[in-house]
Amino acid sequence: MAEKIIEKTIFELSRPGVGGANLPGLDVPEANTDSIPENMIRKGKIGLPELAEIDVMRHFVKLSTLNHHVEKGFYPLGSCTMKYNPKANENAASLNGFTDLHPLTFSGLSRGAIEIMAQLGEMLREIAGHEAITLQPSAGAHGEFAGLLIIRAYLESMGEPRKEVILPDSAHGTNPASIVFSGYKPVQIKSLDNGMVDIEALRGVLSKDTAALMLTNPNTLGIFEKEIKQIAAMVHEVGAQMYMDGANLNAMMGYVRPGELGFDVMHFNLHKTFSTPHGGGGPGSGPVSVKRHLEPFLPIPVVVRNNEGEPHFDWERPQSIGKVSGFYGNFLVMVKAWLYLRMLGLEGVREVSEWAVLNSNYLLSRVEDYYGLKFKTTPMHEFVADSTPLKEYGIRNIDVAKRLLDYGFHAPTMSFPLIVPEALMIEPTETESKATLDAFAEAMIAIAREAKETPDVLHEAPVNTPIGRLDEGKAARRRVLRWPIPEDL
Ligand SMILES: *Cc1c(COP(=O)(O)O)cnc(C)c1O
Repeated sequence: MAEKIIEKTIFELSRPGVGGANLPGLDVPEANTDSIPENMIRKGKIGLPELAEIDVMRHFVKLSTLNHHVEKGFYPLGSCTMKYNPKANENAASLNGFTDLHPLTFSGLSRGAIEIMAQLGEMLREIAGHEAITLQPSAGAHGEFAGLLIIRAYLESMGEPRKEVILPDSAHGTNPASIVFSGYKPVQIKSLDNGMVDIEALRGVLSKDTAALMLTNPNTLGIFEKEIKQIAAMVHEVGAQMYMDGANLNAMMGYVRPGELGFDVMHFNLHKTFSTPHGGGGPGSGPVSVKRHLEPFLPIPVVVRNNEGEPHFDWERPQSIGKVSGFYGNFLVMVKAWLYLRMLGLEGVREVSEWAVLNSNYLLSRVEDYYGLKFKTTPMHEFVADSTPLKEYGIRNIDVAKRLLDYGFHAPTMSFPLIVPEALMIEPTETESKATLDAFAEAMIAIAREAKETPDVLHEAPVNTPIGRLDEGKAARRRVLRWPIPEDL
């Protein structure tokens, strides 16, 4: 274990006697410790690391460059939409008026915040083509869960909740998980050779037991479901609902409104499409928009406007599924999405999609002679390259991914969707320049050459990163998240 540690911790760097913290003197009466149990009173020093400010700065700046991030380099992690997040968003979200606002503040004193929630909801509804929305869920998966509970509540109000939710074999892993958590049975259907839903297979599983069809559009192969209107008609015919996983909205905002395609429910990923930094478990937000008939079931409270146009929280929703978040969701993420959308405007929103799709197709055109596409249909904002052609040299997708790190790029999403054997799912996003896309394409091409000529280089990669190739299974199962490192490791 020890040899894997490449940076000293701040505790090891500490030099007793240096000091570092300059705490103000006590300005309240000293506490009477008589009432505190003996074993809970600290006797010794608190053990803070002692370091000069400059050394602390250097330590953390250094750490910040060891990991890859979008401000350090290209981050084409498919399905995750790792776009650059304008710093203006962060400035707005760190205004004291927002950060110091207590969630229990009387709504008459937090009108600005509620107005932002109302406006964000209106803009998102416009993009979705839906009549109502909740901003409460805190992630995409959380939105899926809330959306499915809404469908369940609606169907229950019609007499019975039904049993199954259908999804394609290209679905994101959170989809079947949300289906199970909301009390349904996932029923999987195969994709066609062009990557789209097999309509005959769908017909075969649709029944009076079907509660919903859950689709991502464009799907996780980056392919737009062309027959979506026919699919929606078939689903509605058996009385089931259409759920859209909106994580891939970056491909079509301002062009296609899911509500008009026939989707009754959709979740957004504000932390993907609407520019909040994510990865590493940062705060997310997964609003859920719905058609009018599902509005009564939204989580409470719902932000609505009164006759004078003033927004307020509506708690009087007897058919609501209840709350899905302690308060109103991740408010500061909403502030970022609100500002992002206000800065873009309607034209800007369309341009995001245009550039996202153009960048992805440009990149594909540069690498497709070296990496196959299992599903040949022209993709939208991302594509799933398949490194199967390199298998004859003993090279797997993981070798390509690891070697890309040596070239200074984050790896694409690997081995997903599961229906592409050596999947490398690449999503460049709209915020990258042609120069960056070219540099990445050159690296992919160089790696294809290395596979043929010097395959061992790829097996050993990465060699230029702070840590070489890890035992990923062990790293995932035996994470060490505390200091000092436990003796028994
Ligand atoms: C990211 C993603 C999700 C889940 O979103 P989280 O915010 O990570 O929970 C669901 N579906 C698709 C297609 C995604 O890309």
